[in-house]
Amino acid sequence: MDDVTIFEKIIKKEIPAEIVFENHNVLAFKDISPQASTHVLFIHKEKSTNINEMIEKNPTQISDIFKAIKEFTELEGIDQHGFRVVTNCGARAGQSVFYTHFHLLSGESFGNFGRA
Ligand code: 5GP
Repeated sequence: MDDVTIFEKIIKKEIPAEIVFENHNVLAFKDISPQASTHVLFIHKEKSTNINEMIEKNPTQISDIFKAIKEFTELEGIDQHGFRVVTNCGARAGQSVFYTHFHLLSGESFGNFGRA
């Protein structure tokens, strides 16, 4: 899992991405295969492989990410519409890129996730 991931190449601008938000710590870009009309990936510029490693290594990164999500959703008016944030941890949960990332999804009416 120490291989260089596609997201590190996006941070270094070695491969293109539609960047929609950037600050000192956080980068956000459109998902290449959107699952909703707004589907943006938020990543921290300092690497971790998944949410648990992020919390273990540097827990303040989670607030960097969620502050960026707050700023972006307010700027874009997405907060008015409603949105969902998802992170997959591990291949069995659907994680395919082993660089911690948060899916921001909006534009659709989502069902009640996780309820019986
Ligand atoms: P995961 O399945 O790991 O939770 O999410 C990885 C996400 O990264 C997927 O939704 C996938 O569409 C997206 N993705 C994979 N490769 C690229 C890429 O090269 N560029 C962009 N913008 N998104 C990518």
